Amino acid sequence: MPEYFDLSLPITDELITYPGDPEVRLQPHARIAAGDDVNVTTLSLGSHTGTHIDAPRHFIDGARTVDALPLEWLIGPARVVELPPTVRAIGPEDLRAAGSEGAQRLLLRTRNSRLWAESGFREDFAYLTGAAATHLVAEGVKLVGIDYLSIEQFDAQQPVAHRTLLGAEVIIVEGLDLRAVPAGDYELICLPLRLAGLDGAPARVVLRSMAP
Ligand SMILES: [Zn+2]
Repeated sequence: MPEYFDLSLPITDELITYPGDPEVRLQPHARIAAGDDVNVTTLSLGSHTGTHIDAPRHFIDGARTVDALPLEWLIGPARVVELPPTVRAIGPEDLRAAGSEGAQRLLLRTRNSRLWAESGFREDFAYLTGAAATHLVAEGVKLVGIDYLSIEQFDAQQPVAHRTLLGAEVIIVEGLDLRAVPAGDYELICLPLRLAGLDGAPARVVLRSMAP
């Protein structure tokens, strides 16, 4: 039997959001306990809430939107690599040392995984350098994921990692919960909500262990 790992953060009012992004609000619209026939909830959240996809449109006007991403980009072989906790700025040499070579879809398990246990947003998360983004594009990687709310250095002067990856139509997955996942090769199933014309979308992201 294959083993499944759910990499998606639970969406709650308490979910950590990126500074400046909308807060998550889940409000009762109808409640049986209040005399209504059904339970229905109103959702208020940003397109980059929790575990989510960045489509090229996030940084490039006119570029591909989240509903236009082919499913074959989002589903298929993926590799989880582990970066040591000493690495904060992830460069090409760190990726090579972690064993990224040959991966079509790459998920980075970093020191960030520890940050999910903290109550607030942390600025000192590990991020991908522009040089590493360029390296991954050259390697032909189609999707890159990371275990915090952005793949970019906090307060970066220029969003080089985003621009480099999205400019080459490399899909970015942010907000992954990789705490329970050992490094290795898996099948990725990443399904963002089909939000028409948008820059990104929350996604249910799952890894399935490969048949031996
Ligand atoms: Zn992003």
